[in-house]
Amino acid sequence: MGIYPPPLERLIEQFSRLPGIGLKSATRVSLHVLKSPRDLAETLARSLLDVKEKIRFCSRCFNFTDEDPCPICCDEGREIGILCVVEGPGEQLAIEESGVFKGRYHVLHGTLSPLDGVGPEDLRLGNLLTRIEKEKIEEIILATNPTAEGEATASFLADMLGGKGLKITRIALGVPMGGDLKYMDSMTLRHSLKSRVRVTP
Ligand SMILES: [Zn+2]
Repeated sequence: MGIYPPPLERLIEQFSRLPGIGLKSATRVSLHVLKSPRDLAETLARSLLDVKEKIRFCSRCFNFTDEDPCPICCDEGREIGILCVVEGPGEQLAIEESGVFKGRYHVLHGTLSPLDGVGPEDLRLGNLLTRIEKEKIEEIILATNPTAEGEATASFLADMLGGKGLKITRIALGVPMGGDLKYMDSMTLRHSLKSRVRVTP
């Protein structure tokens, strides 16, 4: 039995189930909702249901969207022939926000992780081969994260897509901007030396 009336206790419990929200934050948020005008609770409840009802996967790139195909897949102005493969919608957004990449994406919604029982069938790979053919893809950028799972996923994809006449590239891994070599871990340094680029013609 909590110290608050049961409806408030229930709200606190629900908020505390969300990632990154502990009991303290959940209590603070719940008390805020209680004190605020009814309008806030109604908009919040509607928004929660809206994401469940209106957001789905784009049938081409598997990014989240409220219209299928998504605006990026429909955008005629995007560079054709190049596809950037990312782990999830967060990574897709980060690359999009960098403004450097002008092609289209393919969102995997995960990485291979044999120890956790995540195999290729759990990733959104279904239409990748069809896309490559249909969209006349010439280059695939493997932009999975530089973690053990991300690397395993990148090399799985490189194997799967190899021998199809595609240019397959991996994002460069190494020293970050503003970094200091003295404090870099040896794995990062190794990667940055391996992926060094030529500065003179
Ligand atoms: Zn799409």
